[in-house]
Amino acid sequence: MSRKIYVDQDECIGCGSCEGICPEVFQLNEETGKSEVIKPEGGPEDLIEEAIDSCPVEAIHWQE
Ligand code: SF4
Repeated sequence: MSRKIYVDQDECIGCGSCEGICPEVFQLNEETGKSEVIKPEGGPEDLIEEAIDSCPVEAIHWQE
């Protein structure tokens, strides 16, 4: 598995949904108010996919 997950900082509106679903991987940055990936490769993929689906602005992407 070489692909990585990332959050587009311009698109994220800081709703917290991804962190709520998969806090192992996504965490809101207290300074920016936006979600950051704290563990690009090590997360449970089903929860990552769920977080992607839950994001209201589609800010979460895979980078091949
Ligand atoms: Fe940002 Fe999307 Fe996560 Fe909400 S679900 S905090 S908009 S990346």
